[in-house]
Amino acid sequence: MKKISLYIICFILLCFILPALFTKNGKEVSAGTSEGNQNSANSSGETQNQTATSTIEKYNYNKYGTIKLLHKDTGQVEEVNLDDYLCNVVSAEMPADFELEALKAQAVVARTYTIYKVNNKKHDNADICDDSACCQAWISKANRLARWDENLRESNWNKIVEAVNSTQGLIITYNNEPINAFFHSNSGGTTEIPVNVWGGTGYPYLQTVETAGEEGYTQYASEVTLSQADLIEKLKQKYSDISIDFSNPEDIQIKEHTESGRVKTVKFGNHEISGVETRSIFGLRSTNFEITQENGNVKFTVKGYGHGVGMSQTGADSMAKQGSTYEDIIHHFYTNVEIKEVNSI
Ligand SMILES: [Zn+2]
Repeated sequence: MKKISLYIICFILLCFILPALFTKNGKEVSAGTSEGNQNSANSSGETQNQTATSTIEKYNYNKYGTIKLLHKDTGQVEEVNLDDYLCNVVSAEMPADFELEALKAQAVVARTYTIYKVNNKKHDNADICDDSACCQAWISKANRLARWDENLRESNWNKIVEAVNSTQGLIITYNNEPINAFFHSNSGGTTEIPVNVWGGTGYPYLQTVETAGEEGYTQYASEVTLSQADLIEKLKQKYSDISIDFSNPEDIQIKEHTESGRVKTVKFGNHEISGVETRSIFGLRSTNFEITQENGNVKFTVKGYGHGVGMSQTGADSMAKQGSTYEDIIHHFYTNVEIKEVNSI
């Protein structure tokens, strides 16, 4: 009888008490965005549901732990946990099939960019918004998962969470201050300094640097071809008196380049326009372009994608493929910076 009781006690211990103890000692997770936790794309079983939704570990930020996110389309301001928010940002900003070290670099860059924005507010009632053209891209976990192939949802999301979890608390600093961590899609091989894009100075950590391997990405090369009439039409919207003699090849020509090799000024007939404005007027992917004329058309052959300042995302992935760590990547794209725990500054 005693023996049987002992067996029963052992059985209860094995089945209930020990697993409970291990669970308590497991990872402490934040409340997170309930949307994400309930929204597993994989509905085939409880175990899979749990693994499909890796969650952010709790990290005690002295400041910045919660940020106010403005959803531009609804005008709603949501209070979000910083690292939960960064999973939404990283998964919106960088393809999940990029190398883990590139995703980690993106996580640190996005965290730094967010904290910089908290301290340098653009919006009255929020720290940052979800519009990539204004602040930083953001996508809900539900939408993110829905856009991935079903068989990749679990591994992709877990990879994003790992990139954020493994860099928790880390930001990029210069003179012990968070930097304005600009980033873009593809530099075309060479990054740009901010003065050539927005004017103004004061970012000594944003210098021109070169990266190998960016030409292997779809974001590297693009073309825009316009008829002479379309070219005139687009220019007229800004310059009503525009006049171009298409029989004279010199009437459309690049006059000056920036130090990074991007276009600084272009002559279009009776006007000289900056490379940045030319990019905007014709919807070019970058200011790194050449212009040719053939068969009555004007063709812009473009290298790279984005403003070209700070970290190139494809450059980061290319470096990671060649063995660089996320720290190497950050130190490559941002000059003389340090990677520090935000609680230490
Ligand atoms: Zn904004």
